[in-house]
Amino acid sequence: MNVLFFGPNGSGKGTQGAIIKEKYGVPHIETGAIFRENISKGTELGNKAKVSIDKGELVPDDVTIPMVLDRLKEADCASGWLLDGFPRNLNQAVKLNEALAKEGIRVDVLIEIILEREIAKKRIMGRRLCVNDNNHPNNVNIEAIKPDGDKCRICGGELRKRDDDQDETAIDQRHGIYYDYKSGTRAAIKYFKDLSKRNGIPAVVEVDGRGSVEEVTKELMEKLGNLSLK
Ligand code: AMP
Repeated sequence: MNVLFFGPNGSGKGTQGAIIKEKYGVPHIETGAIFRENISKGTELGNKAKVSIDKGELVPDDVTIPMVLDRLKEADCASGWLLDGFPRNLNQAVKLNEALAKEGIRVDVLIEIILEREIAKKRIMGRRLCVNDNNHPNNVNIEAIKPDGDKCRICGGELRKRDDDQDETAIDQRHGIYYDYKSGTRAAIKYFKDLSKRNGIPAVVEVDGRGSVEEVTKELMEKLGNLSLK
């Protein structure tokens, strides 16, 4: 099963991605995470990527596209993959589709978490990290998971903010790329949805990102369960 997974920063994509990975038992390939790992190891790829990432810009396509295509050729991808964070612009979508077609590989499912830009931004800025457990969700802007004062609502632990979650300019920059219908991520999504309109491949699953983590997971699982794949 080959899956493309889309959703703006702040839509809960990371959490849902981990659940989909479990469901299909495929590697979860996150371009942002690959870059971060390379940056922390100080590799040449990491050094190239860091300049763009620090500015909230996309890493150039001539670095990103070969990196992803090489990753998809690795042995663990032989029976499927979940690609998250790629393609992020129209050019990446076209190049991915061309490269896959050459190998006779297809995208089976496109998943999109739909969330308005302002809501996504509010969520990011309200996010608080529990020092005891990353999986203790706290958000000062979401009633259902509001912290207990300034402490974790689950364990009472200290809460911290992620630096990049508070940088409004960087958030706007990232969302600017995502919600760009002409050549950004929305254009990449449309490219694959247009392919789907022709023959139903890939199958398209859209979920409403406004609900709680559990509600989004429920809708996602129901819709994935109902798919009859071609
Ligand atoms: P993410 O963790 O998905 O928010 O990605 C973090 C950063 O990595 C992004 O802001 C980009 O600078 C870079 N990045 C991730 N995926 C891509 C991609 N497909 N193309 C170019 N840059 C990317």
